[in-house]
Amino acid sequence: MSFSFGVIGAGYYGCHIASSFKALGFDVTIFDSENTLLSKASGNNQFRLHQGFHYARNYRTRVQSRDGYMRFIERYPTLSDPIKTNLYAVPNEDSLVDFLTYRLIMTSSGIEFSEVKAELYNLSSCSGVILTDERVLRTDKARELFSMRLKNNLRMGVTVTSLEEVGKKIFINGAPFDYVIDATWGAFSKIEYPVFYEPTLLLYYRSNLRSYALTMVDGDLCSIYPTDKEDIFTLSSVSHTPLGKFKTMVEASSYLEGVTTEMVEKKRSCMENQVVG
Ligand SMILES: Cc1cc2nc3c(=O)[nH]c(=O)nc-3n(C[C@H](O)[C@H](O)[C@H](O)COP(=O)(O)OP(=O)(O)OC[C@H]3O[C@@H](n4cnc5c(N)ncnc54)[C@H](O)[C@@H]3O)c2cc1C
Repeated sequence: MSFSFGVIGAGYYGCHIASSFKALGFDVTIFDSENTLLSKASGNNQFRLHQGFHYARNYRTRVQSRDGYMRFIERYPTLSDPIKTNLYAVPNEDSLVDFLTYRLIMTSSGIEFSEVKAELYNLSSCSGVILTDERVLRTDKARELFSMRLKNNLRMGVTVTSLEEVGKKIFINGAPFDYVIDATWGAFSKIEYPVFYEPTLLLYYRSNLRSYALTMVDGDLCSIYPTDKEDIFTLSSVSHTPLGKFKTMVEASSYLEGVTTEMVEKKRSCMENQVVG
């Protein structure tokens, strides 16, 4: 007997779940309010496929990142590219850990890296720098792959407004399914544990650099990372990228709509000062 699955949300999670169920032979329908796959968080982030080098203070997250990294590459070999120069630097002043401690933590996580001279990369205010292999996610290729795999299963431009359980069926906007998976990252169903919502600001830059990433660790620091376009980079900052904390997604989204050029410029200057300093 084949079951039918309704998946709400065509971000990375929804697309992965829907294509996995489809590959197992189930009947799958995936709904998204937007007309393009991976339009929200999945298409607007720092595109890191990382091994946990920026989680010096959490062993569990490092192990999850390290193992998830391998699994993602195995499962989706075409959806990421290697980065030629991928640096993690521990600044003298602002880091919560010193370089020797950082190096020890990373060695114990079983992830490979080599130590490099800070001066080689013009990072003279850093007490230590490591070079390691990580990758950048190819959002363009992910959209292509999932569009192809889910060709007849997509209901794009459809906002789910109702979910009703009647007998053994669950109805999405009136259509019956055996199972429903909410992959909206908390935008549709209420999350049962305490959460807050943070609208975020990521800055994009055009540069002559190629395949270069720099992450300052550890603490409320900043990072530069490549994107799927070779001359475009993102700048993100733990302290300046979040624009506020809100109780609901609706409040967070309406705050975003009111963001002005002046507010962006102010944040931009904070982020640029942080990375230059
Ligand atoms: C600033 C920032 C940087 C980040 N950097 C990284 C990084 O470098 N590497 C990394 O791995 N992760 C990163 N993340 C986290 C990553 O972006 C998310 O974990 C991931 O994108 C979540 O995917 P998702 O599919 O759950 O959500 P989303 O991509 O948000 O997908 C949810 C989908 O649900 C749809 N939807 C919502 N409500 C409805 C409705 N009622 N009806 C129909 N459709 C609906 C939306 O349109 C959306 O397409 C970052 C996040 C942020 C905010």
